[in-house]
Amino acid sequence: MSKIKNGLFVVATPIGNLGDMSARAQEILTKVDKIACEDTRVTGKLLSRFSIITPMTVYNDHNAGKIRPGLIADLMHGAAIALVSDAGMPAISDPGYKLIQACINDSIPLTVIPGPNAALTGLVQSGLPTNRFLFQGYLPVKSGARLSELEELSRIPATLVVYESGKRLAKSLADMASVLGDRPAAVARELTKLHEEVRRGSLAELANLYGAELAPRGEIVVVIAPPEAPSLPNELELEAMLAGRLSHLSVKDAASEVAQITQIPRKILYDIAVRLLHEKDGR
Ligand code: SAM
Repeated sequence: MSKIKNGLFVVATPIGNLGDMSARAQEILTKVDKIACEDTRVTGKLLSRFSIITPMTVYNDHNAGKIRPGLIADLMHGAAIALVSDAGMPAISDPGYKLIQACINDSIPLTVIPGPNAALTGLVQSGLPTNRFLFQGYLPVKSGARLSELEELSRIPATLVVYESGKRLAKSLADMASVLGDRPAAVARELTKLHEEVRRGSLAELANLYGAELAPRGEIVVVIAPPEAPSLPNELELEAMLAGRLSHLSVKDAASEVAQITQIPRKILYDIAVRLLHEKDGR
């Protein structure tokens, strides 16, 4: 078996279906000197399924600050270390970001082995627009903080991808419906697993549906369609907006103000405003 180069290997692992473990992920986890993982019981099961006997060390939210300097020192001395999380891509709502940053700062070679990720799987399976999306991760647990975070998200012209727990799902969907409006959405549960389920509907429909049931079991991604683009005013409406302003503003200021409201280029509005003035003067 060829030797592996030194450095940090960030390795994605299955989010449920072990068939999604890539050949490259198996090879890297077999060859590295050690595997930094969130929980040795969870990763231990994965390793034993693939007959991998590489030693593990715990690297999670509770001990990362303490453990990181030792990992960096080992890497500086030429070790090859893999970072995995309990499931999916490390550093995505999981530990890893600071270790990756430290490697980059210390010029330690960094390799990412791509693979399963719940956010992208849920996004694609939702059938909602994929051309522009924002990954939110978890929303705040407390309703007040959640509502203000949703307020901020409501203005973003992109599909939203949110991680949520079964316990909070119904309340969270109700908050989403009240702040984001009744947008199309999908709740994707237990992706890639035996009881995989995707429910699609408007946010209010989904909030009612889950509000009337016991909290669902398993892991959940909520995907929400972007806000509808505001329709542009037609020429008559633009003329009315400009005429109202031309009684007390210059052509330039009236055009600027309407441009700001409608996002229509100022030059177009300026030309309409000049035409309106000429028509008024009978020229
Ligand atoms: N790093 C992981 C990834 O790349 O997807 C995410 C880790 S985060 C701590 C765990 C959350 O991801 C869960 O609470 C759930 O919202 C989502 N998730 C993970 N596996 C999932 C699955 N099989 N189906 C639906 N959502 C899942």
